[in-house]
Amino acid sequence: MSVSTVASAQSVCAPLPVLGGDVTVPLVTGGEVTYAALDYAASAPALQRVWDDVAAYAPYYGSVHRGAGYLSQLSTDLFENARRTVAEFLDCRPDDQLIFTRSTTDSLNLLAAAVPADCQVFVFETEHHASLLPWKDARVTYLNAPRTPRQAVETLERALADRDPRGPALVCVTGASNVTGELWPVRELAAAAHAHGARIVLDAAQLAPHHPVSVRDLDVDWVAFSGHKLYAPFGSGVLAGRADWLQAADPYLAGGGASRKVTRREDGGVAVEWHESAARHEAGSPNVIGAYSIASACKALTEAGFDTLVAREQHLIGKVRAGLAGVPEVRVLSLFGDDTPRVGVISFVVDGWNSSHFAAALSAEYGIGVRDGLFCAHPLVRTLLGSDPQTQGECGAPEAAPGEKSLNAIRVSFGAGT
Ligand code: PLP
Repeated sequence: MSVSTVASAQSVCAPLPVLGGDVTVPLVTGGEVTYAALDYAASAPALQRVWDDVAAYAPYYGSVHRGAGYLSQLSTDLFENARRTVAEFLDCRPDDQLIFTRSTTDSLNLLAAAVPADCQVFVFETEHHASLLPWKDARVTYLNAPRTPRQAVETLERALADRDPRGPALVCVTGASNVTGELWPVRELAAAAHAHGARIVLDAAQLAPHHPVSVRDLDVDWVAFSGHKLYAPFGSGVLAGRADWLQAADPYLAGGGASRKVTRREDGGVAVEWHESAARHEAGSPNVIGAYSIASACKALTEAGFDTLVAREQHLIGKVRAGLAGVPEVRVLSLFGDDTPRVGVISFVVDGWNSSHFAAALSAEYGIGVRDGLFCAHPLVRTLLGSDPQTQGECGAPEAAPGEKSLNAIRVSFGAGT
């Protein structure tokens, strides 16, 4: 089996132009080739349209919510309009709150800091670490990996039925797996959560770049995603949903912008009244370019039309999977099975190959950028590979020698710019 067999399974065509689409990279074999970015699940290239919008705004750059000057007012309008655009993109309820954060990880940590003290959290062990790990201060129930979407719902229902119904509860679930690309039955999980008096947060980091996400239609209480996976630059993310827990919680960061009124107390201390709007959790000077670029990406995807984008992506998924299926040494990883709907995220191992060496060879010999490792979802990848947690090391650690069982995997991922 040669790397070229897998390399030829990739195909290039781009519904939405992205930055760096024509970057050439050197090959170890000599010469250069146009870089094939197939690591969208980690960070997708920014759309040309987003970059143009940011460049057009750059000369008018001003501080948000603070200045009296024209450019400050303009920037404040852009920031608040971005909030409305993203809320529309997510089809939020009228009284939902949308908070700009740094990333999905930041959004979920913010929610984790805001859950009531007696909240019980339910999370599948298959989650990305961003949704698996932030619930440090809550009582967490880790649910075993289900092998079908139906089993996921049943597992959750059983766990919720066993809980003490008096306290609040929260379910955290991903919309699309960053390892297998498989879609999770979010609507059904939300219905199960609500039937048992729990709330649900959707980690849409991998779903939002590929499918429309409707908070109302899915009936989720919160949704989180990252700008850099949705064709915007790094550094911005979103948490949107129910305002009550967020407004009852202490500000995520204390500082200017989050505070409405600060006075000295007679005892020498300081009294603070915090905002009750999104500003409560957006202390400090906000990342207006980040918010603006997410909104620009949301508009670009909406205008391109998800029907068109999904059809194109499904065609690519079919091609890549058919290409990989033609290579007997390749095993594509799947939790729910081949018939499950999925996004353009495909992980596999190649018999006789060390995954890290294989990924390095795709880069060095073909200019194809993929990812190797455990994809920040260690329990899931170990379940899929059937590897023993005691013998497998950390992300990026050296793994099985050629001929031995793989201890990590290779991932190709693509989307609207591929
Ligand atoms: N959730 C999922 C499903 C992801 O794939 C990722 C990143 O790969 C994250 C959360 C974390 O996103 P970020 O690194 O932007 O915080």
